[in-house]
Amino acid sequence: MAVVTGASKGIGAAIAERLARDGASVVVNYNRSAKDAEAVVARIAASGGKAVGVQADVARPGEAAKLFATAVDRFGRLDILVNNAGVFEFQPLANVTEEHFDRHFNTNVKGLLFAAQGAAAAFGEAGGVIVNLSSVVSIRPVAGASVYSATKAAVDAITKSLAAELAPKVRVNSVLPGPVESDGVLALAGYEQFREAMMARSPAGRLGKVEDIANVVSFLVSDDAAWVTGEQITANGGLR
Ligand code: NDP
Repeated sequence: MAVVTGASKGIGAAIAERLARDGASVVVNYNRSAKDAEAVVARIAASGGKAVGVQADVARPGEAAKLFATAVDRFGRLDILVNNAGVFEFQPLANVTEEHFDRHFNTNVKGLLFAAQGAAAAFGEAGGVIVNLSSVVSIRPVAGASVYSATKAAVDAITKSLAAELAPKVRVNSVLPGPVESDGVLALAGYEQFREAMMARSPAGRLGKVEDIANVVSFLVSDDAAWVTGEQITANGGLR
């Protein structure tokens, strides 16, 4: 049984569908996009899987608590948390505002940490697995993205700290995607320019697909990754 935060769109939706195909029942969390979340739940059900959509703004830990309560009430237990919900807006230093800073840190860091706390309590004695969506900018920050990059460096620090603290019952890893053509990225201002620049540098000759990241998450939550914890797994098509 898995909770995937921010699963109404993009990478989170692909992860929810992949984990359902792997046999997990899934709580499909969304914040604003109820219709998109319903579509994800419907696609999972149409393929014979089990899923339920639950609205919660993860930036408000009190709201996120209902994700774990629903998981246990509906499906009896919780085994997997994928902390995928995140916001990304790139701003040069001169344009960074307190609102920009708080929105990024509240969602990407505070939300992720308290979701991990809620999941660890819900896992109980049986233990479980947490996967945190970080980014390549956590280890290779880019110009004009100081705040977003800092949130993802914080995600990796939290991953390593919790992996040590919660072992051996809970494994915790970060996935660091490079540029992936998710709903959010396709909607970015200047997307075409961004795509051209990335394509020119990409040894793989393409940007990432949401399924590329879902495949990595599928491995990390599986027993095949039983000896993998506290790691940062980059999925970037070889782009440096
Ligand atoms: P999208 O913008 O396509 O989707 C974001 C998802 O997060 C939506 O489902 C949205 O839900 C949800 N979300 C945002 N804020 C909240 C919130 N406060 N509470 C609950 N859900 C929320 O993003 P991506 O798929 O591109 O990104 C997913 C993750 O991967 C993020 O953590 C991002 O930083 C990371 N990542 C993405 C990369 C990329 O190139 N795409 C590269 C590296 C990392 P709703 O619409 O319902 O509000």
